[in-house]
Amino acid sequence: MAQINEIFGSLVFDERTMKAVLPAKVFASLKKTIDEDTPLDPSVADVVAQAMKEWAVAKGATHYTHWFQPMTGVTAEKHDSFITPAPDGGVLMEFSGKELIKGEPDASSFPSGGLRATFEARGYTAWDPSSYAFIKGKTLCIPTAFCSYSGHALDKKTPLLRSMEALNKQALRILKLFGNDTVKNVRTSVGPEQEYFLVTKEMYDKRLDLKMTGRTLFGSKSPKGQEMDDHYFGVIKPRVAAYMEDLNDELWKLGIFAKTEHNEVAPAQHELAPIYETTNIATDHNQLTMEIMQKTALKHGLVCLLHEKPFAGVNGSGKHNNWSMSTNNGQNLLSPGATPYENAQFLLFLCAVIKAVDDYQDLLRLSVATAGNDHRLGANEAPPAIISMFLGDELNAVLDAIENDKPYTDVIKTKMKLGVDILPPISKDTTDRNRTSPFAFTGNKFEFRSLGSSNSIACANIMLNSAVAESLQIFADKLEASSDFENDLHALIKETIKEHKRIIFNGNGYDNAWVKEATEVRGLSNYKTTPDCMPHLLDEKNVTMLTKHGVFSKAELESRCDIMLENYCKSVTIEANTMVAMANTQLAPAIDKYVGDLAERAATKKSIDPSIASSYETTLVKKLSSLTDAIYTKTDELKGEIIALGEADGIIPESEAIRDKVLPKMGELRALCDEAETLTAKEYWPFPNYADLLFGV
Ligand code: ADP
Ligand code: MG
Repeated sequence: MAQINEIFGSLVFDERTMKAVLPAKVFASLKKTIDEDTPLDPSVADVVAQAMKEWAVAKGATHYTHWFQPMTGVTAEKHDSFITPAPDGGVLMEFSGKELIKGEPDASSFPSGGLRATFEARGYTAWDPSSYAFIKGKTLCIPTAFCSYSGHALDKKTPLLRSMEALNKQALRILKLFGNDTVKNVRTSVGPEQEYFLVTKEMYDKRLDLKMTGRTLFGSKSPKGQEMDDHYFGVIKPRVAAYMEDLNDELWKLGIFAKTEHNEVAPAQHELAPIYETTNIATDHNQLTMEIMQKTALKHGLVCLLHEKPFAGVNGSGKHNNWSMSTNNGQNLLSPGATPYENAQFLLFLCAVIKAVDDYQDLLRLSVATAGNDHRLGANEAPPAIISMFLGDELNAVLDAIENDKPYTDVIKTKMKLGVDILPPISKDTTDRNRTSPFAFTGNKFEFRSLGSSNSIACANIMLNSAVAESLQIFADKLEASSDFENDLHALIKETIKEHKRIIFNGNGYDNAWVKEATEVRGLSNYKTTPDCMPHLLDEKNVTMLTKHGVFSKAELESRCDIMLENYCKSVTIEANTMVAMANTQLAPAIDKYVGDLAERAATKKSIDPSIASSYETTLVKKLSSLTDAIYTKTDELKGEIIALGEADGIIPESEAIRDKVLPKMGELRALCDEAETLTAKEYWPFPNYADLLFGV
């Protein structure tokens, strides 16, 4: 433990370090900015920059970078060295407050969805003091937001910070109504559980599909998959354990609370869970975690796959976004309390989430939509594409009783005048877990499970925070105008339950009957793919809500819709092109070589003795020859579909063509190749198969 203590946060300019190296007044001013979102005092910046540089240089840093999260989904950095020429011919290490606060990366190549014409290519980055600077390699990384000169957000952090502020503002209004005047802020926290696969670098290098797209585009089922359930929580292999140990060290140095790790359901699949933090920091840390996971794997001769569906036929990887709201006094607003008053407040916040998830199902769904995650949602492993909520038996009983004015003595012990009573302890027991629900209450937090493993968690939390801010605003408007708080509060809770209970579902989300009920009886939306859901970002109700809370401007929303659909089209097009290349230059020639050798052997045998039937060879030659022909034809058809994409009139039709034409064709080509794989001698197959990959570490 002592050791962890020493390394934990050693590469982070965190509060401990700031307190130690900054003058007391400067520290106090910066802390106020961090805690209360007050504007940064410019005189503070120079002092902080100086201290930050000295600290970083002492740790071996030579460069600094404004570290940001453009719409590519990964982080970006451009390194500048601290050195400036000294008059005597030597060098000085310099870093000013100006350089700390603002940067100007040449950003013309980052996606902007038309927001930033290339003639005004220079966006700027702005320091986010609420997320600590850290050292990576020899570089001091300063977390920043990234905007265009016209003020449009070009990144994921800016709208996330705005959504947190929107929620903060409305939640404080509600807390005031309950007499909480001392609370200074309400922040959302997130603990993202991260799933991933490990394969050996050696095998990875032999697979063009893994290298180009992060997933296998071909591969017949391994004789053994996950059917024995023997991998989940199983003994961790020494090589993987060594990787996890190393990974933990690296993450701890960066102040990331990596806490739990275990094997997941699929062979070669694992999970890492950190301790939760403020959403903004959790988002930065999750990006860093993914990066360090991949880097560390290489040191161990492994490759870490973060794709949502690296292998067909076994589980894909997700990211569970554990989310709650709490005050700066440490009160979790999703934690049922000990007094009726606290519980009324809890129920109101709970209702705000219920209303938010129901009213903005579409936003939550599209916030996790990518080409990769489309393979997962709706498959028999991840939550379905239909957004619903799981609350558990106790809470359901309480809500049911409130809705129907029923006495609920069986669950509630004392009935109080408020109409909201002492709640039973809400079970956090894992046996009560509904693993199929996209949005499950787990005692004092919600677990949003639809995120894909490679997603930035920013988008999901932007939508969640904004939607909850909207419910809270509606509630606050009503209750502030009330002359009978207790009665109106009770009525509001009751009314919200009635109106939004359709979103609550405690059954099996994988069941076909649920799809029917959800869509036909309850009217919930079921957007199976990215092209199905993404255009709804621009639905009037969504634009109205998100602009009202200052989270996005209309132009930003239009650009994001474009960028997300473009990402989808590009990802699938790269996959399709990779399939064509592999089929034409690797698979067809390999099968053909095998066929040729078989035919030759049959001929040789016949030349020895014409009565040898060689039915093994001849049958296979016939089967494989017709498969190779089919593969060739299908590859050509796929190529045709890719070319036809060039004719699509805009990004929406293009994404629809990908969904309706390209993806089905890819499926057909794969089926043919996978069948051929099962008939071809392994030594001829040009790359490692599923059994090699899944059981190779
Ligand atoms: P579970 O059994 O639900 O997986 P864990 O305690 O393992 O519960 O937590 C899972 C994740 O949820 C962890 O990352 C944890 O830090 C996070 N978490 C716990 N409490 C909260 C909270 N109040 N807000 C946000 N995340 C939380
Ligand atoms: Mg969990």
